[in-house]
Amino acid sequence: MFDSRMAEAAVTAVAEAIKVVGRVSRPQSLTKADTSPVTLADYASQAVVTRSLRDQLGPQTRLVGEEGSELLEKNPEFAARLAELLGFSPTPDLFQPSSIEDGACWVLDPIDGTKGFLRGDQYAIALALLKQHQIKVAVLGCPNLRLECLGRQGCLVVAVRGQGCWARPLEADEWLQLKTSDRQKDLRILTSVEPAHSDDAVAQRVTERFGATAIPMDSQAKYAVLAAGEGEVYLRIPYREKIHREYIWDQAAGSLIVEEAGGVITDLEDRPLDFSTGTRLLNNLGVCASNGPCHQALM
Ligand code: AMP
Ligand code: MG
Repeated sequence: MFDSRMAEAAVTAVAEAIKVVGRVSRPQSLTKADTSPVTLADYASQAVVTRSLRDQLGPQTRLVGEEGSELLEKNPEFAARLAELLGFSPTPDLFQPSSIEDGACWVLDPIDGTKGFLRGDQYAIALALLKQHQIKVAVLGCPNLRLECLGRQGCLVVAVRGQGCWARPLEADEWLQLKTSDRQKDLRILTSVEPAHSDDAVAQRVTERFGATAIPMDSQAKYAVLAAGEGEVYLRIPYREKIHREYIWDQAAGSLIVEEAGGVITDLEDRPLDFSTGTRLLNNLGVCASNGPCHQALM
């Protein structure tokens, strides 16, 4: 088992957020400045995780989350609905990013895969501890994900650098260690559901070349599937015309989860993910994660 106060705190925080998010019925979305959707659940999750970590680890605990305070300031009705859902009035500091220049900082995607969440499909609450430009602890909460190895819907996955990757159902205490598969054929390739997030045409060519099966799925739940050995490859291929540099909160938790389960994660040019460049992975192009044995063939 893992032995880490930080991991325990992260699991508690994500489990609390899952409960609050579960109370959001019929989610509706607003549109952010970058045209991506956001819901009450995104804000509720960030408020709960941040508050929980600060309660457990001290008020100085630093965190960068995806959601900012602007929307709450501009939309008092939304802020009031959020306070009602939470049962407390969230203070603005819960939505003000800490500096990630030095020291340890948590990185949070409060609802990764908001589009999946809105469709009732996969989404993940993704929390990671970044220290000295490395991810040290990672937690994914995936309420809609059914891992075969757990045999029921909903899971928490945790990884601690050097201590492995573990999963449990939402309402159980026992952790099961996850290991990636050792398949080198009949590969299962995980891809985005949203065509805008990854170049399908390239992924399709790779799928055909390897005689693989494509499994579209939203969010970092894909990393949990890979870690559990229920898929072999995860490709994130930016469009040539408009190269998207990944946000750290979209990759931080998932990357350690896959590595600690025995997998490999690099960008499309076989470089390790470089978490030293602020809130985006400026030194990387796309993502290729795998079970390990098939990684070089993919490159
Ligand atoms: P997925 O559910 O794997 O398709 O990825 C969801 C994430 O894609 C969101 O959290 C967004 O931050 C991210 N995203 C948004 N736009 C793009 C884009 N153009 N390319 C790649 N990822 C994006
Ligand atoms: Mg995200």
